[in-house]
Amino acid sequence: MAAGFKPLSGQQWRGSFSTVSDLLDGTLGRWKDDVVRQVFCAHEASMVLSLPLPRTVTADMLVWAATDNGLFNTKSAYQLVLSSHDGPSTSMGDDRGGLWSSIWKTKSIPRCRDMMWRICHGFLPTAVNLSRRGVDMDLLCPMCGEGNETTTHALLFCPAVAPIWFMSPLSFAFHGSQPANFSMEAWLRTLLDQKDEWVIDKVSTLLYAIWARRNLWVFDQRWLTLEQTLKRAAAMEVVKLDDFQGLGSAGLNIAQVDRQDVWQPPPRGSVKVNVDASFKHGEVVGTGMVVREADGGLLLCASGKMVGALSAAMAETMALRWALGLVLEMGNQWIVVETDCAVLHSTWRSAHHDRSYLAAVVQDCVALSTGFSSFSFVLVRRNANRAADYMAKFALSNLCFVWFGNFPMGLEHIIASDVSSLANQ
Ligand SMILES: [Zn+2]
Repeated sequence: MAAGFKPLSGQQWRGSFSTVSDLLDGTLGRWKDDVVRQVFCAHEASMVLSLPLPRTVTADMLVWAATDNGLFNTKSAYQLVLSSHDGPSTSMGDDRGGLWSSIWKTKSIPRCRDMMWRICHGFLPTAVNLSRRGVDMDLLCPMCGEGNETTTHALLFCPAVAPIWFMSPLSFAFHGSQPANFSMEAWLRTLLDQKDEWVIDKVSTLLYAIWARRNLWVFDQRWLTLEQTLKRAAAMEVVKLDDFQGLGSAGLNIAQVDRQDVWQPPPRGSVKVNVDASFKHGEVVGTGMVVREADGGLLLCASGKMVGALSAAMAETMALRWALGLVLEMGNQWIVVETDCAVLHSTWRSAHHDRSYLAAVVQDCVALSTGFSSFSFVLVRRNANRAADYMAKFALSNLCFVWFGNFPMGLEHIIASDVSSLANQ
């Protein structure tokens, strides 16, 4: 159902209801639980009931299911036709086909896309993969000599490789031993699902550069430093800052976004709200928000839990709607809200003509934002949003609460480091 909006069950009910509104209780603003359970099979009913409902009432409209924004374009129609034949996107026969088409749609250069594809299919000729294919060889990693050279070790967790990820603009930490249930394919899939081109491009170029570095050492005995490897990865990037969710036409300029790598205080007299969601596919969403004043001092922080987001961007949007509701109650009138979700930010800007489900919930946020005297909505890098990220993760492992003092210890550290990095500028 998630793929095509087309339920499998409920056919026998055809005629007794014709539109989704028959399934909604308009007065209470929620699904008619009993009707949904009667019409759909148990699995589909629980998926329907977990869908967040937009609070703003909009007229019915036709939605093209093959694009993210619900608007028809010929490219998506062409891809739909291709995928209905036995093209490369369905030849895999399982949901790897979906993975392949997500990789194929990324903006990264072909050799980096190809690299992601080979990784996901276990085709990378690491020592462990080769020995599985019957090649008799030493399994030890040639870079560190400490662990067996699996794909995950060679590209992420190898002690000679992990610092590259941490030094990169992504600041991914793969220190320590690899978690037992870690799956490279699932990790890549989660990243691709988030549809953040900037991140995907960085990840694919780093993967390529890290493997090329390994080969240079194994076959040519040439050792590239961490910095040289990062430089080589950066040279292959295609998603530059000026592509960053279509900036330039309005509001922000590129220089501003670049600077927003570290947290910046709001103008005097206003407050800054950082919002984030921690999303696990098909599971609970943790939401976090942190409100700070112009001197960087913490006014309030909150953590919450939700279910029902079908994508990372939806989780971020639900977190934003939750946060705006809380801030409105506090009575602050001049606010700056920051997100690190490029999809949410660009949907906000196109929400009035976007027909996606996401846009309907974004419209709720736009409506809430009109309750403030001054409101601006800014896209920042992940590093500038660390405090909210902490609270979103906190929600998943701890309690959900609103703090006005005695803030969580870990958060206090992040707030202090945000303030000290301001002093160092
Ligand atoms: Zn190693």
